[in-house]
Amino acid sequence: MLLKVEGLAAGYSGVDVVREIDLHIGKGEVVALLGPNGAGKTTTLLALAGVLTPTSGQILYRDLPLRGTLHQRARRGISYISEQGSVFSRLTTLANLRLGAGSVGDALALFPELEPLLKRPGGLLSGGEQRMLALARSLAGKPELLLVDELSLGLAPLIVRRLLERIRAAADAGTAVLIVEQHASQVLSVSDRGYVLSRGRLSASGTGAELLASSGALRSAYLGTR
Ligand code: ATP
Repeated sequence: MLLKVEGLAAGYSGVDVVREIDLHIGKGEVVALLGPNGAGKTTTLLALAGVLTPTSGQILYRDLPLRGTLHQRARRGISYISEQGSVFSRLTTLANLRLGAGSVGDALALFPELEPLLKRPGGLLSGGEQRMLALARSLAGKPELLLVDELSLGLAPLIVRRLLERIRAAADAGTAVLIVEQHASQVLSVSDRGYVLSRGRLSASGTGAELLASSGALRSAYLGTR
């Protein structure tokens, strides 16, 4: 097991918004963390990324307690992509790629669409291009664990499919991925498993196929429709 989370609680200003979170991710697995608005998906991810300090529970990474800041975790092979895409808007696409742990050549091989955009400031890329840039930069560094928040936010399904394709390929090459999503059907199609969060607690888990086949009420309440 690459990542094992037990009894995790985290929140803001002393108030827990997620509680009793137990989850695990193996090498090369794509795992979706699903749930409606405000369920606590981002909060869980921030605790795993080292941005928020858990109030209880433990996070084991390669069987050892995971501690340290976002940057220390990055050095241990954990890459985090925020909802905003983690792109520096004033830096060019090329400069953004150079900030990654991997080579620019590897990043462009993953997303050749970025080649004509190398001189453009990140802030002038479309939403989909910014997500490609963030993902290219992250995956070129061959992380062991990728934590990615709301990949599909505001993007056309075709672009989401393209991004998910690259995520699946990275997982098949060994990267473990935890992907937070509100609209889940597309993400579940490339996921090995998923967990559903509701009001700060896990309410369901299973394989992608099991969650997709779950009852209409669960699907519409927690998996979104897309
Ligand atoms: P969304 O899909 O809307 O991003 P989410 O499942 O990611 O939802 P979180 O962003 O983790 O949910 O939010 C969980 C709860 O924590 C919400 O009630 C939210 O209002 C609250 N919350 C989030 N950020 C903060 C903060 N900085 N300070 C206080 N409360 C916060």
